[in-house]
Amino acid sequence: RLQVEGLTRSFGGRPVVKDVSLTVMPGQVTCLLGPSGCGKSTTLRIIAGVETADAGRVIVDGEEMTAPGLHVPPERRGIGLMFQDFALFPHLSVAENVAFGLTSGSRAEKRARVEELLRRVRLERYIDAYPHELSGGEQQRVALARALAPRPRVMLMDEPFSGLDNRLRDGIRDETLDILKEEGAAVLLVTHEPEEAMRMADEIALMRGGRIVQKGAPYNVYNAPVDQAAAAFFSDLN
Ligand code: ATP
Ligand code: MG
Repeated sequence: RLQVEGLTRSFGGRPVVKDVSLTVMPGQVTCLLGPSGCGKSTTLRIIAGVETADAGRVIVDGEEMTAPGLHVPPERRGIGLMFQDFALFPHLSVAENVAFGLTSGSRAEKRARVEELLRRVRLERYIDAYPHELSGGEQQRVALARALAPRPRVMLMDEPFSGLDNRLRDGIRDETLDILKEEGAAVLLVTHEPEEAMRMADEIALMRGGRIVQKGAPYNVYNAPVDQAAAAFFSDLN
């Protein structure tokens, strides 16, 4: 379970993240949705531990990650990351990419986990291929397998589908959602597209100017926007 309480961050005196709080349960997807520049990526980066907060707490399965005087480094947070440019390591094979974050277990156990995940994303036959031999959609699926391999408690995804063409995107969204649900991590997914949030989220957290202005089930946020701006945001992009 991911708990975020009162996250706040300014850059050069300009507040970018303002008192952001949210909770994501295992197996649930929360979409952090909002226009460009509203502070979504910064929020995610603070949760991941690659950026610091001025105030607030990040708690994973009851364990403090970020609090006054405490900063657990990214690699010890039990958090999986998938960003827009999900770059695979070009000099490593697909199997080596997926195994990258597997630090414990025997060789055989690691191999079994890699095979299991590649089966799930339907890329077993590419196990010994290199990233440049795969299409964009295939690379995206390898990146998903890589992020999930160490069984993260929390999965953070920042516009993970934005590099894909429209034709591929819907299918990969659905497939990704299935795998995320099976793996059972608490997922926080950033997007500026209402349609994506409507499709993927159990809960939407609508963000504007650094604040979460509305939280709720997709249906409720869509049908009962908190204000004019929220209504316009949904209608603009449909
Ligand atoms: P987008 O949808 O375009 O990705 P976003 O909601 O992810 O936008 P952020 O990347 O979080 O937005 O940026 C929020 C604001 O904070 C922007 O105005 C950005 O310029 C600023 N910002 C982010 N990181 C830094 C930094 N390291 N130094 C200074 N300003 C920053
Ligand atoms: Mg961003």
